[in-house]
Amino acid sequence: MIERLYRQDAYRTAMQANVTAVRERKGRSEVLLDATAFYPTAGGQAHDTGRLGAARVVDVQEDAPGEIWHTLEGAAPAAGENVEGEIDWARRFDHMQQHTGEHILGQSFFRLQRPIAAVNMEGRICTIDLEGDVPWELALEAETLANEAIWAAHPVRTYEVDESEIGRLPLRRPPKVQGRIRIVQIGEFDWSACGGTHVASSAEVGLLKIFKLEKVRGTDTRVFFNCGRRLLADYRLKHDFTAALGLRLSAALEMVPERTNALLDELTATKRELAQARTRLAREMAAHASGPVECRQVEDPALLTELAGAFAQKEGAIALLGAKSEGRALLAVACGPGVGKKAGDLLKVGLAVVQGRGGGKPDLAQGSGPEAGRLAEALEAMRATALA
Ligand SMILES: [Zn+2]
Repeated sequence: MIERLYRQDAYRTAMQANVTAVRERKGRSEVLLDATAFYPTAGGQAHDTGRLGAARVVDVQEDAPGEIWHTLEGAAPAAGENVEGEIDWARRFDHMQQHTGEHILGQSFFRLQRPIAAVNMEGRICTIDLEGDVPWELALEAETLANEAIWAAHPVRTYEVDESEIGRLPLRRPPKVQGRIRIVQIGEFDWSACGGTHVASSAEVGLLKIFKLEKVRGTDTRVFFNCGRRLLADYRLKHDFTAALGLRLSAALEMVPERTNALLDELTATKRELAQARTRLAREMAAHASGPVECRQVEDPALLTELAGAFAQKEGAIALLGAKSEGRALLAVACGPGVGKKAGDLLKVGLAVVQGRGGGKPDLAQGSGPEAGRLAEALEAMRATALA
């Protein structure tokens, strides 16, 4: 059987072992060792990475009990060879922080009558699934409890007990294994059956923060959280951008949400006023237009539709309108009551020039084409047809 060095000492980074088997899988070499400090993915905790001899260890999976395959990139050692290896400590310690934090958070929720249904710490953000509904206030209560347990600097001990003795321990969840069972005890705060790697003192978890809650499987609640160094990175990110936002809004940090809401309300009101002003302008332009055919190019593409709409209501008026927007030629044609021409027929003449497509109703038609440079030509062609 393989000697699990990571269980004996989670802080051990260097190791030496004999290669007992080598196989090729998906173009990579995989090796079995008689001892390993590399944690294989299990119990919601992701595998370690590191170096084995001259090769990189990129994955570690336990295919069958005691059969831990190390997936390598680079020159693999041969069976029987003695190799030295080293795990990536930053990655492992991060996993230890998240994992120990997960035990502490699990116990905190357990004390608030929310037992754990599942855990996952393999992604960037860790999750625990709890049975039942969890209001945000309850989550914050658990978060406070968890952080107090972290700061209490409880010693974290691991030991094995026989399954016959398991009844005397206040476990939150029944163990998933039989026979000798590994217990992780955090002070007098939490007892869990677990085969993972953990920090030696709860204080090393540093800090725990819950980000959000989500409903899963109908009745359960998924809690998203992180611990330790990940939170420092998260705090730096959020600090930098909230500070930048505060500076941009000339507001103290706590005033940023209020100031942002006020600005968004102002923006909505301004957009509404602008739309109303466009409608008024279009009506004025249509009212003051003289002659049977109004042919013009406007600067503001948003005015095009408004203007066409206003002309479509003017007795005997034809409007041939164009604008440029994002490198395209926009065309709109309006035929007022009593004109006796169809807007779509006139539009087709213009669209042929700008290589465009479009359509509409007899009184109002619109389209656009890529030949923005030929907009004036398109308007002139429509005018000639309208006057014919
Ligand atoms: Zn654990």
